[in-house]
Amino acid sequence: MKPSDLAALIDEPACTHNLKSKSGCARPKPGAAAGGCAFDGAQIALLPIADVAHIVHGPISCAGNSWDNRGARSTGPALYRLGLTTDLSEQDVIMGRGEKRLFHAIKQVVDSHAPAAVFVYSTCVTALIGDDLEAVCKAAARRWGVPVIPIDSAGFFGSKNLGNRIAGEAMLKYVIGGREPEPPPVDSARPELRVHDINLIGEYNIAGELWHTLPLFDELGLRVLCSLSGDARFQEIQTMHRAEVNMVVCSRAMLNVARKLKERYGAPWFEGSFYGVRDVSAALRDFARLLDDPDLHTRTEALIAREEARIDAELAPWRERLRGKRALLYTGGVKSWSIVAALQDLGLTVVATGTKKSTEEDKERIRELMGEDAQMIDDGNPRGLLDLARANQADILIAGGRNMYTAIKARLPFLDVNQEREHGYAGYQGMVTLARQLVRALENPVWDAVRHPAPWTTLPEAAHG
Ligand code: SF4
Repeated sequence: MKPSDLAALIDEPACTHNLKSKSGCARPKPGAAAGGCAFDGAQIALLPIADVAHIVHGPISCAGNSWDNRGARSTGPALYRLGLTTDLSEQDVIMGRGEKRLFHAIKQVVDSHAPAAVFVYSTCVTALIGDDLEAVCKAAARRWGVPVIPIDSAGFFGSKNLGNRIAGEAMLKYVIGGREPEPPPVDSARPELRVHDINLIGEYNIAGELWHTLPLFDELGLRVLCSLSGDARFQEIQTMHRAEVNMVVCSRAMLNVARKLKERYGAPWFEGSFYGVRDVSAALRDFARLLDDPDLHTRTEALIAREEARIDAELAPWRERLRGKRALLYTGGVKSWSIVAALQDLGLTVVATGTKKSTEEDKERIRELMGEDAQMIDDGNPRGLLDLARANQADILIAGGRNMYTAIKARLPFLDVNQEREHGYAGYQGMVTLARQLVRALENPVWDAVRHPAPWTTLPEAAHG
């Protein structure tokens, strides 16, 4: 990748923090790759594309990330779950065999799995030795008759977030616009229904969350051309340019895709969330507003009224059990405010929220929800989190999987809301799942047992003897 292309990606104009005098994303600090390098970010953003073979061109250690690490689900193909790497050794590097190995790896995967396309990710080593990824991919595509897409994502380019954008840029450069969508389907029960095409950008279908919102779009006559990249297929990504509106579901991940789709094809975009009743309704209203279809507007309001009433009734017994509970939230990006909204919907008080990966706009939304004095956590070291939980009498820590043992060792109930979570919390129905999981975590009988002294420590002296 040319330095000028990289600089342009770092300096994403659609990011709110670029309005300040110091533009561009923060440079990674030493050790920052521990939170994910650019390769990690690129692969994580594209791995859920289910019918693509994802080959990591580099040493085997880089491919450690590939095995289904996010819990992204697919309705069909499972090829994306297969860890594929060229497994370069020291000998290959010394002998200059990298490009050859890559060419054969592509052949092997095409022969044995017949993928819809092959994505090849470069890593630090293959970028340093100067393997010409683009040339090899072009030659392999010509030879084996399958699209082979180079993702120039050397880890040292920068942070995981930059990697997300590199992934988006590769889709814009090589994939989007490659095919026209099928004509919109006609609903025999509602032949007069006008179908609108939309895209969801940054929706990864973690724990099947996308499937909570798809029925709502279906009912409204909104056809999701592509969800980048949860449960996506290669051909769907090729048609993304035809969407009338794009929704950016995860704020920072692939803003560049939404911005460039607007610049090139005129489709407006908005940023929203599917967590919490209010936010799901707001996202549906945003679609109706941007599509400017009066009939859609009426149907959207009717659907929102019906779903909110239904979910309110379903949530009532859970809200009763959760009322007054205090939660410490430590998660990143868009979830730092969207999950706050969802928890407040359920009657919990959020005592503090993590903002390590949040934008200025995310922080502004946190202040709107939690008040001007909202406690924001920038550094979530375990000791600090526990001190904060104690000082604020938090009943539960809601965070990513790596904080689970911190909470459990401190006998504090815990709920995983990050990428490894096993339950989908998006959409109206997701709120019921969230409420149920919160109650299960809070009311688990184990807390009562571990918070009292062990029975043998309270036995009278005589009993020992
Ligand atoms: S791409 Fe580089 S930083 Fe990323 S995992 Fe591989 S060696 Fe490490």
